[in-house]
Amino acid sequence: MNASRKMNAPVVIIGGGIVGCAAAYYLSKSGVQVTLLERSVLGDEASGRNGGGVRQQCRDRRERGLAMASVRLWQELQATLEPDIEYRQGGNIRLATDEKRLSDLRCQSEEELQDGLPVEMWDQSELRRRAPYLAEIFLGAKYCASDGMANPLLVSRALGWAAQRSGARILTHTEAFQIEIQGRQVTSVLAKDAQGEFVIETPQVIHAGGPWTPHLSQTLGVVVPIVPARSSLAITQRMPRLFDEFVSSHDLGVYARQAREGQIHIGRSVSEPGETFDQTTPLPTIEKLARGAAQMIPALRGSNFLRTWTGTLENTPDGIAIISAVDGIAGYLIAAGFSGHGFCLGPIAGKLLSEWLVEGEPSMSLREFRLARFQK
Ligand SMILES: Cc1cc2nc3c(=O)[nH]c(=O)nc-3n(C[C@H](O)[C@H](O)[C@H](O)COP(=O)(O)OP(=O)(O)OC[C@H]3O[C@@H](n4cnc5c(N)ncnc54)[C@H](O)[C@@H]3O)c2cc1C
Repeated sequence: MNASRKMNAPVVIIGGGIVGCAAAYYLSKSGVQVTLLERSVLGDEASGRNGGGVRQQCRDRRERGLAMASVRLWQELQATLEPDIEYRQGGNIRLATDEKRLSDLRCQSEEELQDGLPVEMWDQSELRRRAPYLAEIFLGAKYCASDGMANPLLVSRALGWAAQRSGARILTHTEAFQIEIQGRQVTSVLAKDAQGEFVIETPQVIHAGGPWTPHLSQTLGVVVPIVPARSSLAITQRMPRLFDEFVSSHDLGVYARQAREGQIHIGRSVSEPGETFDQTTPLPTIEKLARGAAQMIPALRGSNFLRTWTGTLENTPDGIAIISAVDGIAGYLIAAGFSGHGFCLGPIAGKLLSEWLVEGEPSMSLREFRLARFQK
C-alpha cells in the first residue's frame, strides 16, 4: 500500500449507480463532503441499462410508499437536473390476456387505491379506446397515470455531476476492495485506481454496489443475500410517435416504451433463469423480445432492432431492497438488492440515506428493508 496516498472523507459511498449517485446528490446538497467510488463510470451497470420505467403500480405493498415518494422527487429532479433526464409521466399500462390476470390486477388495484395511489381498471373496450396501438388479444388492463419513464443513460450522471457541483468528490475507475473496522466502527476504505492502491479514512460508508455488494461486504464478514441475474433489452430504429405509456404484459413476458427520439425500447418483464454475472445477450432472448413485442404492439412487426444489451439484476430472496444498518458495525449502511425495480426508487433511497446521516433518522420507516430480516 502506498502510504503517500491517503485521503479523508466524512462519508464514502461505494457504487455510482442511481442509488449511490442519489445519496451523493442529497448529502452534498445538505453540505456533507462525500467521496463516491465507482469502479467504472457513473451509471454503467443496471442504472444505465434498465428499461427506464418509473412505476408505482404493481409493486410489493412494502415498497409502494417509497415509490410514491420517489415519484415526487422525480418531478423535482426533472425540473432541476442537467442535462435533461427526460422524465415524463406518460402513464403505465399493465395488461391482462386472461381472466385470472385481470382479477389479480383488480385485487391489486383495490389495495393501491387504499394506499392512496390513483389507478384505473380498463375493460377491453376502454383499452381499445385508450390504447388502440395494442393488439386485440388483451382482455383489459390496469392503468396508473402518474407513472412514467426517464432516460437511464442520463440520470445517474446528472445526479453525480450535480453532487460534484455541490462539493462531492466523484472518483470513477476506482474500485473499493476492502472496508476496515476497528472494534465495531468503520475506519477506512481501501481502494485502487490506475495509479495503484490508496486509503480513504472515514467513519461512514454507504455501500450501494448493486449485485456486487456481497463480494465487498464479505471483507467485513457480513453476508448480504443478493444474487445476480441477467435481463436484456432491445431498441428499434426511430419510429413515428406511436404511444406515450410504459406498457407491459407479464403473460407475453415483455414491456415497451417509446423514447423521446422515437426509438422503442423492448425488455423482458420476466426474469431469465439462473444466477449469473454474464452480460452477453443470448439469441433466443432476442427472439423472445421480438416475438413478444410484435404480439403486444402489431405495428412493431417488421421493425429493425438497432442494438441489444444486457444488464445485471440484483435479486434478494423476498424481492425487495436492503436499505439497512448492520448490527454490530457502526458506520456501515447498505443500500442494494433492489431486485429489478430500483430505478424508480433510486431518488428516495438516496434522500432517506442522506436524512439518516444528517438528521439521525430517515423521514420514512425503512423497517421492512432491514438486512436482519434474512438473519431470523
Ligand atoms: C435490464 C434491466 C431493466 C430494468 N428495468 C427497470 C425499470 O424499468 N424500472 C426500474 O425501476 N428498475 C429497473 N431495473 C432495475 C434497476 O436498474 C436497478 O434496480 C437499479 O439501477 C439499481 O441501482 P443501484 O445503484 O443499486 O445498482 P447498479 O446500477 O448496479 O450500480 C452499482 C454500481 O456499483 C459499482 N460497484 C460495485 N462494487 C463496487 C466496488 N467495490 N467499488 C466501486 N464500485 C463498485 C458498479 O460498478 C455499479 O456501477 C432494471 C434492471 C435491469 C438490469
